[in-house]
Amino acid sequence: MIIRQLLRGVFLPPVEFGSRSAVLRALSGMPHPKSDMTEFREVFSKAKHVAIITGAGVSAESGLPTFRAASGHWRKWKTQDLATAQAFSRNPSRVWEFYHYWRELAIRAEPSAAHRAIAECEARLSKQGRSVVIITQNTDELHRRAGSRHVLEIHGNLFRTRCLNCGDVETNHQSPICTALKGKGDPDPSCSDANIPVEDLPRCNQGGCDGLLRPDVIWFGETLDSHVLTKVEKVLDACDLCLLVGTASVVFPAALFAPQVAARGVPVAEFNIRPRAATSSSTYHFQGPCATTLPNALHQAAVYPTLGVLKDVRGRKASQSSTSGCYFVFFSFSFFFHTCNKINELCT
Ligand SMILES: [Zn+2]
Repeated sequence: MIIRQLLRGVFLPPVEFGSRSAVLRALSGMPHPKSDMTEFREVFSKAKHVAIITGAGVSAESGLPTFRAASGHWRKWKTQDLATAQAFSRNPSRVWEFYHYWRELAIRAEPSAAHRAIAECEARLSKQGRSVVIITQNTDELHRRAGSRHVLEIHGNLFRTRCLNCGDVETNHQSPICTALKGKGDPDPSCSDANIPVEDLPRCNQGGCDGLLRPDVIWFGETLDSHVLTKVEKVLDACDLCLLVGTASVVFPAALFAPQVAARGVPVAEFNIRPRAATSSSTYHFQGPCATTLPNALHQAAVYPTLGVLKDVRGRKASQSSTSGCYFVFFSFSFFFHTCNKINELCT
């Protein structure tokens, strides 16, 4: 597939909406994406394999800055210039300070309402024999912390390290990740580099390796993990509904995921605070904070199949209470007649 041949790290130029997307729509004859929630819910209730592609907008609602955005900055540097192998090679202390700051923010953040809605949706649908897979560009683990089980992290994970010497990959949630980084990483532009000696930065502890560790994330200019991409392709090929949540989809190859699905005629529903350049190719677009729009869409969509159950439960409760009422009347009359008989016996 084409996405496997592409490198992540290539940005599409940012575009202004309104004018440009309107022109594209007019030229292509594409219809406006619909905002019909009732129709979406119906489509959702019939979908058996749902792919949910998420981006920085979901984590932004947990208070995490969108560092990967083209406009992202830490101190005076563009984050695009820090998240590269070259930057790490030149100044590993500075890059580790930046990632230490990001890790500490992510540790303290809580999953947003959108994270929780997605996790709840996955759990509920799996009980119905339906599948939900999350394909995320986020590295902060908030989907997993919200309870999602099937998560493909295409840009890696902030809480994994990779040894530059032996290649060992380890999960690491230590805070701070090493003593020398304690209290470092202040994003204020006036702060100067900590210049931590390389031997005091995170090091490998595998059998005396002691190699320098790096964050196990995909940096700009690096290729995605081929195993993860193979899984992503399978999910995109099998899905019969695709949700695009909190992502501007300007980074390849993630920018191609939704168009690839749409090309098969599969509905794509977008939940974004603003329309994207490619929003016009989506079937549905629900504008607003995804922590508001998504729980509403997924929760209410799920109510349909369970309405019958709710009605049944209510019906049973009603019938139980009317039965209880009958028993109460029966026993009341029995007690009344029994008492009358006793009084009659005493009087005679
Ligand atoms: Zn090692």
